[in-house]
Amino acid sequence: MTLMADPTPEGRFGDFGGRFVPETLVPACIELEAAFREAWADTVFRATLDELLRDYAGRPSILTECHNLGADLGIRLLLKREDLNHTGSHKINNVLGQALLAKHMGKKRIIAETGAGQHGVASATAAALMGLECKVYMGAVDVERQALNVFRMKLLGAEVEAVESGSRTLKDAVNEAMRDWVGSVESTHYCLGSVMGPHPYPWMVRQFHRVIGEEANRQCREMLGADPDVVVACVGGGSNAIGIFSGFVDTKARIVGVEPAGGAAVARGVPGVVHGMKSYLMQDEYGQVLEAHSISAGLDYPGIGPEHSHLASIGRVEYPNVTDAEVIDAFQTLSRREGIIPALEPAHGLAWILREAGNMQGQTVLLNLSGRGDKDVGQMMDILG
Ligand SMILES: *Cc1c(COP(=O)(O)O)cnc(C)c1O
Repeated sequence: MTLMADPTPEGRFGDFGGRFVPETLVPACIELEAAFREAWADTVFRATLDELLRDYAGRPSILTECHNLGADLGIRLLLKREDLNHTGSHKINNVLGQALLAKHMGKKRIIAETGAGQHGVASATAAALMGLECKVYMGAVDVERQALNVFRMKLLGAEVEAVESGSRTLKDAVNEAMRDWVGSVESTHYCLGSVMGPHPYPWMVRQFHRVIGEEANRQCREMLGADPDVVVACVGGGSNAIGIFSGFVDTKARIVGVEPAGGAAVARGVPGVVHGMKSYLMQDEYGQVLEAHSISAGLDYPGIGPEHSHLASIGRVEYPNVTDAEVIDAFQTLSRREGIIPALEPAHGLAWILREAGNMQGQTVLLNLSGRGDKDVGQMMDILG
């Protein structure tokens, strides 16, 4: 028995998940689920994906022990180096899987939503590699804020559409991508960027990221001869977190998913339905979805993947949150003490470790370093001067 079992046929993880989509999208979700189920069981598909992960993305990613910071804190600190993957984060695992599946299904085109642009860039990368057309939906506000990533996507041959509806940010881009998919499902695969949305996405995206946890479990056994005491990851939608957690939910490790204080779906949210799934969600007293606010655009999401809601509700995983100030401190600390500039997202995980180290003396703590900080140095230069 594993705590990370497949969802029910309705796509439920306990009380959460499901497939809350308009009638017009149900056949597309069912077709995708069947295609994924078949591909995932197909040894040729899996071998092709493993080869791409190795020869294109650069897997396996290494495990690095932070000797300086570990000594400062009185813990043993290990980093799973997803920052060293091609394109600089864990996102490549998911987009290679989905783009390969799209080809497998005979689709000619993929669409994607993006907030900060990272998932858009990853999708455009996989599309370029596999000769697929690519259109990325991005809120008009984000298009302006993330000019460099917009240019990257165009360089990679993708079309970027600025979404002018609603608050002109990520959740509006998701709605627009879903609208495109309704009208184009014959030719198009919707490449969703995290463990969210309607079934089968939370399950499928988790399976594509399981490689993180499988590698990390093996690497810990080699390095420590044991499992770590604590496993930590940041949580936006929750894909890098579910990837590393999958390697440890069935061990005795304490497992911690760290959210931004301004987007604390578990601590501040209530169960609700958004973007095709039932999950914890920050909403006002009238059930309107609240805007999330975080220093890190990649964690600016008011919800969380349904499997995380399930893991929270059964008490297997803790979901604390950290402030922007703590994140800025963690970002500088890892840079100075270890010579590794982290992305602001995993700096949330480190911020929690810095806060809690006093209560974890002598323990081994594994942090999923989901991405590198190159994309964030401009913003940090403005903040730190
Ligand atoms: C996109 C992103 C995240 C947030 O997404 P999850 O689905 O929660 O993993 C975290 N870290 C990095 C580096 C990212 O680019």
